[in-house]
Amino acid sequence: MNNFNRRDFIKLMGISTAAVATPSLLKAATGQSSLSPHVVVVGSGFAGSTVAKHLRLWSNNVINVTVIDPKPNHVSCVMSNLVVNEQLNMSDITFQHAILNKKYGVNFIQSSVASINHEFQEKQVILDSGEILTCDYVVLAPGISFDGIQGLDYQKVPHAWIAGEQTELLRDQVKQMSSGDTFVMTIPKAPYRCPPGPYERACVIADIVKKKGGKVVVLDLNSKIIVEEHMFSNAFSEIYKGIVEYIPNIEIDAVDSNNLIVYTKNHGEFKADVLNVIPTHRAGKIITDLGFNTVSDRWADVNPISYELKNTENVFVIGDSSGTNQPKSGHMANSQAKVCADAIIRKIANTPLDSQERLANITTNSACYSPITSTTATWLTAGFAYNQQEKRMKAIPASLGQAELHSVNHYKDMFSWSKNLFENTFM
Ligand SMILES: Cc1cc2nc3c(=O)[nH]c(=O)nc-3n(C[C@H](O)[C@H](O)[C@H](O)COP(=O)(O)OP(=O)(O)OC[C@H]3O[C@@H](n4cnc5c(N)ncnc54)[C@H](O)[C@@H]3O)c2cc1C
Repeated sequence: MNNFNRRDFIKLMGISTAAVATPSLLKAATGQSSLSPHVVVVGSGFAGSTVAKHLRLWSNNVINVTVIDPKPNHVSCVMSNLVVNEQLNMSDITFQHAILNKKYGVNFIQSSVASINHEFQEKQVILDSGEILTCDYVVLAPGISFDGIQGLDYQKVPHAWIAGEQTELLRDQVKQMSSGDTFVMTIPKAPYRCPPGPYERACVIADIVKKKGGKVVVLDLNSKIIVEEHMFSNAFSEIYKGIVEYIPNIEIDAVDSNNLIVYTKNHGEFKADVLNVIPTHRAGKIITDLGFNTVSDRWADVNPISYELKNTENVFVIGDSSGTNQPKSGHMANSQAKVCADAIIRKIANTPLDSQERLANITTNSACYSPITSTTATWLTAGFAYNQQEKRMKAIPASLGQAELHSVNHYKDMFSWSKNLFENTFM
């Protein structure tokens, strides 16, 4: 049963937060010191930008925050399928780091982080250039990395699952499709970034192919559609009848990137005119490289009351890289970042993180909107609360909701929701 209606959902568009540490506590703890605590944030996507902004905002600028990312601006995956179908431009989903610097005083360094030295109280963050930054706390928010697939060359076969040049490449390839062409895409093993995202992409492409004539083949590594099953299976079998062919339980063997062929272990081979392979994910490479404790050998093992790594003090992992039972989404990354910012501020203020009042208020939420056609969309949401007995985040049953029908109104709401999320994160 769907307990949630559209009005409830729109109320939820205001981004949720955990109980927020009071800046006065922090002032009392750091007021006499001439040295500001320094937090280095690795990655400036949804998780990294939100934590940086809120550390400055909620500490009344007491905390010195430096964000490091190799990309000069963040290109959002959220809404990026609408660049693929040319309803949006890249500039609509690109956010300047300079805004967080100007408005909140967040320092930005354009570089990749090669390593961190986390064994001592004073942490060292080592940049690709060899430069070393020292700090008191490190927040890792590097998003995802992909498992390798034999023969896969992203310059010929884009994943477009980390937005930017990959999004443009896929858009340009789809634009070149002619009547009767076949688009083949693969869906990674769950958990992956944005649970409804791959089905959304299939619908967006099918909408284009429907006008030209052709086919969309969806090769799913999972045994079934994992979210909004009714919505997407209806879309595939009714709106895009004869266009979308959905095949579950696929095992990929290799890819021929020159001839655009996917070889599978159990269903033969699939030849495409445009091929979009989205490999199975794991935490950002730096997390794997550093050899931290992992969940399922893929995700960073964190305590969800702070997102601090288990067994590694004062190093935190938020967003898609973290291994909790919460969905991997930009909305969720924003939510987790606020819990983390609150925890770091309390640590600096020597205030316990596990007071009854705080634990009872740790909540997060996630939302994804998915275009089904060029004028209609659907949505899905879930709220989570910390369960003190089980020491983990658990879905709040009454908060689980999804649209019953795809509609023009949901399509319009998608723009208000994303605007709200973008502003709360990047501005
Ligand atoms: C097509 C699509 C549609 C989506 N739709 C939705 C939606 O409707 N709703 C929703 O909530 N979510 C959606 N998502 C999911 C959302 O985009 C991700 O969950 C979100 O981006 C995760 O945020 P993050 O901060 O963990 O990672 P990212 O936003 O990917 O940011 C990671 C950053 O870390 C940087 N980085 C990596 N390694 C290093 C390093 N060593 N040094 C320095 N920097 C580094 C990267 O350059 C990057 O900027 C969608 C995703 C896709 C692909």
